[in-house]
Amino acid sequence: MSKNFLSELTGSFATPALENPTGVMMEAAYRDLGLDWRYINCEIQPDDLKNAVLGARAMNWRGFNCSIPHKVSVISHLDDLGESARIIGAVNTVVNRNGKLIGENTDGRGFVESVKSSLELTNKRVVLFGAGGAARAVAVELALAGVAQIIIVNRNQERGEELAKLVADNTSTGAEYHAWTKQYQIPVETDLVINVTSIGLYPNVDAELDIDTDSIKSSMVVADGIFNPPETRLIQTAKTKGCTTVNGLGMLVQQGAIAFEYWTGKTPSIEVMKAALSDALDITDL
Ligand code: NDP
Repeated sequence: MSKNFLSELTGSFATPALENPTGVMMEAAYRDLGLDWRYINCEIQPDDLKNAVLGARAMNWRGFNCSIPHKVSVISHLDDLGESARIIGAVNTVVNRNGKLIGENTDGRGFVESVKSSLELTNKRVVLFGAGGAARAVAVELALAGVAQIIIVNRNQERGEELAKLVADNTSTGAEYHAWTKQYQIPVETDLVINVTSIGLYPNVDAELDIDTDSIKSSMVVADGIFNPPETRLIQTAKTKGCTTVNGLGMLVQQGAIAFEYWTGKTPSIEVMKAALSDALDITDL
């Protein structure tokens, strides 16, 4: 009887890769569906990215994630881009479609999925801190999900203005840039506040966004893209104000689940992915 010992390969290219738990939740979901697929977490330096992508092609990998610092630079090594990755200008998921490597972006859709159970997004007003790769993805997908307005607050003015223009030019959502040169006052009519900067990311867990905390109202939903730690200073402060909060673990699981579907064509169990992540990160309230 013939047997198949050849696993399908997926993985991640990033540096640093040491603390990336994605493989744990992906492999749990593969096992759950009886798929002989693997997810290999690879430490890849910027100068080695081209060869890493060539290697993935040579080994017929079914797809891979890209994280810091490869999300933009990987584009020049791919064959084509999906629609949202093209608008966002960054790729976090590469899909092998009939031998062609296609760049997709699941970060923003993952965020939208994670926040949907806490807030119906249509016509809502959003304040978004950050204008990097993940912020671009989140802003574009929130706009495509129908929010009324996004205020981009970012330290670097040029990047912030560029993101506001990107949203305004490509979607029907209103977008404007607010400078972040002093303590930021969140407009009282805001429905959703999101941190997509790296302020508060491990190991700088005590770093705080420069926001007037009196402007955080209990009517606001406050979300953080950071999942390490899940309980950032922003999330802690928002809880003391009585806000509904959404931490970055939901975004991590949901963006992974969308990548899983792109690669395998199957829907993974979110519960299995969350359980694997909880075990790996020693978190009880995921
Ligand atoms: P980038 O490096 O592309 O962007 C970093 C952003 O943080 C920029 O807006 C930058 O502002 C801002 N920033 C960094 N340090 C400071 C500071 N000291 N003061 C003010 N602003 C600062 O990173 P990414 O967009 O890829 O990632 C951003 C965050 O999102 C990270 O924390 C990452 O962990 C998280 N993330 C979470 C995911 C999830 O699944 N939960 C998925 C992807 C990302 P400036 O432009 O002024 O430099």
